[in-house]
Amino acid sequence: MTQQDIALLTELLNHILECEAETPVAESHPPAYYLEQLDLQLSDEPQDRDQLEKTLKDLLYHVPKTSTDHFFNQLFGGRQAIPAIADMLASFLNNSMYTYKVAGPMILMEQAMLKEIARRVGYKESLGTMAPGGSMTNFMALLMARDRYREGIADHGVVPNMVCYTSQESHYSIGKNAAFAGIGRAAVRKVAVDAAGRMDPEDLDRLIREDIAAGNHPFFVNATAGTTVLSAFDPIDRIADVLDSYPKIWLHVDGAYGGSVMWSRKYEYLIKGSERSDSFSVNPHKLLGVPLSTSIIVTKHAEALYRSFSTEADYLFQMDHDELNPGKISLQCGRRNDGLKFFALWKAVGNKGLEEIVDRHFALAQRGRDYVEAHPDYTLYHSEDSVSVCFNYKDIPAEDLCSTLYKDGQLVVGYGSFREDTFVRLIMVNPSNREDHIDHVFETIERYG
Ligand SMILES: *Cc1c(COP(=O)(O)O)cnc(C)c1O
Repeated sequence: MTQQDIALLTELLNHILECEAETPVAESHPPAYYLEQLDLQLSDEPQDRDQLEKTLKDLLYHVPKTSTDHFFNQLFGGRQAIPAIADMLASFLNNSMYTYKVAGPMILMEQAMLKEIARRVGYKESLGTMAPGGSMTNFMALLMARDRYREGIADHGVVPNMVCYTSQESHYSIGKNAAFAGIGRAAVRKVAVDAAGRMDPEDLDRLIREDIAAGNHPFFVNATAGTTVLSAFDPIDRIADVLDSYPKIWLHVDGAYGGSVMWSRKYEYLIKGSERSDSFSVNPHKLLGVPLSTSIIVTKHAEALYRSFSTEADYLFQMDHDELNPGKISLQCGRRNDGLKFFALWKAVGNKGLEEIVDRHFALAQRGRDYVEAHPDYTLYHSEDSVSVCFNYKDIPAEDLCSTLYKDGQLVVGYGSFREDTFVRLIMVNPSNREDHIDHVFETIERYG
């Protein structure tokens, strides 16, 4: 890395900031346009510095802008300087988070963070790790549950008719992970939800009883803290009450989206009972606006992480105790330092700052819902404590509205469905959003409508 390289970095970062200021929603074009306009061919000959700079700048110019105030798509967005810088540092340093030998105090940094998160979840004893996304932390939970269910599963494979439970509104990774885990998608029971999209614990109990009567093996329940569409929070306490009768069933809380309420004194009630779960996952890259991907899982069963993920490897684990070699509890082998960016944010703003980010999302969403409710041209679809605003404007189909706003470079916002309704789904995920950004969304919609 030379001074010249650092100058290039500065130049490119400035270019990104200029592009964002100029076109907060990038122009949208079909692939054929970019294949023609951009230099994407790889060739034998090297590009010189100036050409390379141009290639990169062209690419950066055209990429969708997720960090501006016009981006409300699922389920990440915004840019906070400190975590973005910390993430670049992680790339510069390039440590792999599997051994103390190659990551040194970064291991301790990660552990300090994981411990504090587990404490907030309510675990007295805990162990945790990071994985490349919430789908993968959910996968780890499913594997720990599967392998704990009966001795030998991790070595010899699953027993037939293992079944698991998740709500109709839960994330699609649960089905995909059941396929990965050899359980099969058909073994995932979809538990009914109430009108607000929360799991119905009585339906859960009924399904479990039916499965046991049929000779099946229930082993895993996934509760969602913040469903992907409505951001509904399943009632963890009541689900745990049901599971008191079935001690062999593992309770995981998928808090990828909403788990960050653990930093808010006002909203932590939404995950009340989390200390009764067996594992808990959270994506600070969603509500807290840390760069992708920042995905954490903690469990109260340290031995379960070892049972499912530890493999002896003399070539790798040559020094230090297991506690200092988190490669022994990882999904993968080499693992990038995803923790540093969150650690840096946490240090920079403190618990108070994280709480403020969470509370502001809820307050902005409430402002949005109040606006929608007060204006007869809108229909509101959900009004509980949540970080999303789901609505329709006049009788314009949500799909049409969202794609027109996007194509015309106005706003990036998505739509979702619940039961028979499809609606615009305005998501609060960008920590830089302020009240006038929300107002701007409605102004724009009305101008277009
Ligand atoms: C986003 C999300 C996931 C998946 O997380 P990725 O990091 O995108 O893999 C899982 N569960 C819920 C509830 C989510 O919102």
